[in-house]
This record gives sequence, C-alpha cells and structure tokens, in this order.
Amino acid sequence: MKYISTRGAAPSLTFEEAMLTGLARDGGLYLPERIPQLSKEEIAGFEGLPYEEVAFRVMRPYIGDAFTDDEFRGIIARAYEGFAVTSRAPLKQLAPGHFLLELFHGPTLAFKDFAMQLIGQLFEASLKRSGSRVCIVGATSGDTGSAAIEAFRGLEAVDVFILYPHGRVSEVQRRQMTTPSEANVHALAIDGHFDDAQARVKDMFNDFDFRDEVRLAGVNSINWARVLAQVVYYFTAAVSLGAPHRAVSFTVPTGNFGDIFAGYIARAMGLPVERLVVATNQNDILHRCLTTGEYRVSGVSPSISPSMDIEVSSNFERALFMALGRDGRAVAQLMDELKGSGGFTLSQGVREALSEVYDSGRVSEDETRAEIARQTREAAELLCPHTAVGTHVAERHRRAGVPMVTLATAHPAKFPDAVEEAAGVRPPLPPHMADLYERPERITRVGNDLGEIEALIKERCVK
Ligand SMILES: *Cc1c(COP(=O)(O)O)cnc(C)c1O
Repeated sequence: MKYISTRGAAPSLTFEEAMLTGLARDGGLYLPERIPQLSKEEIAGFEGLPYEEVAFRVMRPYIGDAFTDDEFRGIIARAYEGFAVTSRAPLKQLAPGHFLLELFHGPTLAFKDFAMQLIGQLFEASLKRSGSRVCIVGATSGDTGSAAIEAFRGLEAVDVFILYPHGRVSEVQRRQMTTPSEANVHALAIDGHFDDAQARVKDMFNDFDFRDEVRLAGVNSINWARVLAQVVYYFTAAVSLGAPHRAVSFTVPTGNFGDIFAGYIARAMGLPVERLVVATNQNDILHRCLTTGEYRVSGVSPSISPSMDIEVSSNFERALFMALGRDGRAVAQLMDELKGSGGFTLSQGVREALSEVYDSGRVSEDETRAEIARQTREAAELLCPHTAVGTHVAERHRRAGVPMVTLATAHPAKFPDAVEEAAGVRPPLPPHMADLYERPERITRVGNDLGEIEALIKERCVK
C-alpha cells in the first residue's frame, strides 16, 4: 500500500514512512492511494468480536508489510490495555434512536487516546527495529497534547514537545501535560491561540534543515495512522446497531476534521453510513463552508468547548482532496489562496460531492449549556461541552429509521467548570486521576516565534 500527498507534489511513501513523517514535504497530508474495501460478509463477521480484533481486521489492509500479523496484534493489544473498560468504546442509548459512543475511557479521558496510544506503540516497534530516534513536535488545543504525552512518556527512542496555547486549555488538560516527570516529555506554553501553535508546528516541518537535524516527526491529527485508528470505532458502533444490514448516521463534534474524516474512510470501505454530521461550536467555519461554499477565516473566539476552537481545520484538506476527485494541484491552489487571502470558494461540483456525505450544524455557547442541563435532567447523563455540541446538532439531523450515533469525545471531568456551571453538578475525576491536582507541574513559556521555539527544541532534544 502506497501513500500519496493531497497536494500531489511529494514522493509517495509506505505506511511506516508516512507515519514517521506526518506532514508531506509539499505541505500536503498523506492518504492511501486507494481505499481498501470490506465485503458485507466481512463486516457482518465483526459482530461480537473484541474491539482489538475488529481493529486488526479494519487496519491490516493499510499497513502493508510494515509489521507481521503477530507484531501488529501485539501493538494493538498494548495500545488499548490501559483503557478502563474492556469494550473500549461502549455505546449507550441516550434517547430512542439516539446513541452515545463513549470514547473517553482511555488514560487521558478523551477520544484522542484511541489514536495516540496506538501511534506510541507503532513508533516504538518501528524505531526499536531500526535503532533510530525521533523528535515529536505537536500543537494542541488541549486533548491531543495530553494524549501524546501520555502515549510517549518514558519511551526510549522519542522526545516529545507539545505546544499549547497559554491560558486557553482547561486546568485538567494543562495538568495532564505538565505533571508527567519523564525527561523525554516537554509541554511548552505558547503566547497565542491554537492556530498559532499549529502554524508554528507547520513552519518547523517546512524548515527542512531543522526538520532533518532533529529528525522531526508529527503526531497531530494530520498523521494518517491517527485517522486510521479512529476508523475502527465507526465499525464497532455501526455493527452493534445492525450494520451492514442497516445504515447508521454519525454526528461528530469537529475541529481539525480528523475524527469525522475517519468516518468518511469507514464509509468508503463499505460501512453503510448514511450521513456524517459535522457539529461545530460558535467557531463555525466548517459549518459555514459546508452550507455556503465559502471557507473564510474571521478570528477564533474562545468557547467552553476549546478543543473545537479552530479555524484552520487541517484534515478538511483530505476531504477536499477526495471531493476534488484526488486532484492534488487543485488542492494546492485552494491552500495557497487560504494562506494568501484568508479563504477560498468551493466550486458547485465540490459542494455537491461534499453534501453527498456531510451535513453540518452550529451550536452557540448558550445552546451548549442548555443542552448539558437538558441531558442531565432528561437522560441522567453528564456530557462534556464538546459532546453536548454534538448531541444538540444530532437531534436536529435525525431521520426516521436510521439510528444516530453521537461521538462522546471527552469525559465531563475534563471540563469540570463548564459542566458544573451548566448542570449544577461537578463531575468527579475517575479514581486513577484523583490526585491530579496535587502533582507538581513543570511549565515552560515560549513566545509565538519560530526561532525561539526551534532553539529550545534543539537544546533539549537528545540527538
Ligand atoms: C480533538 C477534539 C475534538 C475535535 O476532533 P477533530 O478530530 O480535531 O475534529 C472534539 N472534542 C474533543 C473533546 C477533542 O479533544
């Protein structure tokens, strides 16, 4: 299996190379050159299997000969052994026809653990074999960084540097990043918002001298292996609701478009997914783009669902690549326009291609709080604010006869202040994290300046 760049001007790579590289050298994102298909019988055969076995069967066609079947099974087993529940991604009924897919039972209480724990084990297996070392740099609006630090802490062949926007992540998120004491993990608080952190990471990847000197690797949601890990739970959820004999829709609280794009891949592999609904908070650039065809940045306003406070949604590029009939030159042109003039306009054809798969909705801050309160009252469920954005949009997009699954992307205890304010109940941390507020923190402040950040990384990483 070969991987190609969404901008059409970078060499194609193997699974392992694409995983270790992250961003392509032409600025694009890697995608498999073709999407493997699963037959109806193969999908039906997932019923009743352990999560890990479904994960193996869904992901195996993508990895080529990177790992033997036994190695890959071992990697998957180690990735998910730290989850608090054996079903890994339990499905819960919220209302008739509306289900919650609980993706927050991993070590940092958000869905990003599904991908990050797998990537940690994949990197370790791959680097151990080649005897080499990498320096992982990532930007986070909170959840990616804590998941990455948790997945890589203490590994021998990896240094991890995570840039997070100073003062704009929740206290639980910050503490999950700043309290691990292993010498190979570094949380850097940047002066700016998430898009600044993400832009500086992109700049580092485009600084080829720096990139080669420190052997830079990326684990942001642009990394194909992360998207791939997230494809699995669309299968387990849909099959437990009757797929492949019955179609299912999903609503996904969306920021960087990685999680929902994994749903697109599941659908492209043959899973009967009727609609994929993009749920945004007040930072609604994706909703505006999908409804008007105009992608135009207008500034980010901080919300109570901070992991979705984004306006350069990096994986949307993958969706555009598919909607443009895999035309890398056309994608590169749109991305140049975005960089040059802060936006682009989609053609009618691309809009139609997107609307075959995606719907979208936007939820205000007041509506999000009201939704948290309503679900506490009516379903006895405490939802994190991101998930509440999802369930609110899902209710508007339900269709008779098609089960709707909303992805519950984080545990409510990850955002205790917002949840308490809306629901009147403070969600407690699960037992394994109960002492989080007592652990000592290590905080490093950095300016929003490429030179300063690169110097710090060069000084701290092991070469
Ligand atoms: C990252 C995150 C999202 C957004 O996911 P994307 O893959 O970036 O679209 C939503 N909710 C939570 C809690 C997250 O951590």
